[in-house]
Amino acid sequence: CGIVGYIGGKQAYPIVTKGLERLEYRGYDSAGIVLFDAEDIKLCKTKGKVADLKSKAELEGVTSGNIGLGHTRWATHGVPNDVNAHPHYSNSGNLVIIHNGIIENYGAIKKALQKRGYHFESDTDTEVLVNLIEDIKLNEGVKLGKAVQLALNQVIGAYAIAVFDKTKPDEIIAAKLGSPLAIGVGEDEFFIASDASPFIEFTNNAIYLEDEQMAIIRRGRDVKVRQIRDDKAVAPYVQELQL
Ligand code: GLU
Repeated sequence: CGIVGYIGGKQAYPIVTKGLERLEYRGYDSAGIVLFDAEDIKLCKTKGKVADLKSKAELEGVTSGNIGLGHTRWATHGVPNDVNAHPHYSNSGNLVIIHNGIIENYGAIKKALQKRGYHFESDTDTEVLVNLIEDIKLNEGVKLGKAVQLALNQVIGAYAIAVFDKTKPDEIIAAKLGSPLAIGVGEDEFFIASDASPFIEFTNNAIYLEDEQMAIIRRGRDVKVRQIRDDKAVAPYVQELQL
């Protein structure tokens, strides 16, 4: 399983799909991608290989945009099929998430959300998490980063996630506990990946998030790192990769 993300000035599709191929060694049963192009968000996902995803995405024209998130799934909750593949949208359609790991207490959170009117298309724990983030964001009137932080404080489990809000398209929120997550720091562009291999030809500067850290990645600006438990800012440690 793996995650790849890009936000910058280049076309995201080739970077994200090539990145997913480099993470294939981690094992997976499904693959998916979401791309944001000006005002348009497009998603494509499928059971099968990254090669199957590329055929489908190219057929459906899901190939353009400067912001992209890609995922390979190793199913833990819900069988491997197209619907359970990531990315997953929130009910409003504004938020989209990719996730590696397991949300162990998703059942109780799902029931509470269903009582509040949320519906679920997939059987995944991940779709529960993105709707919990949405619910908190709407109810508390907070920014996406804060909503992610509050949601993750309710979660038991393991995760590497990336979340994107199409109504605020200059930012990606990433967070990690248990599963690995590296952020590639380029010039006016940022990469997110399970390991550095997807972005190695673009930059050798990387921030490896530690457990229970999240990153607010802002296009053309900066990466801010915060601790999820106590919401303290952490100075990001940019490591130079040895090539
Ligand atoms: N638990 C999630 C799912 O089953 C993510 C699995 C993964 O790590 O790819 O969809």
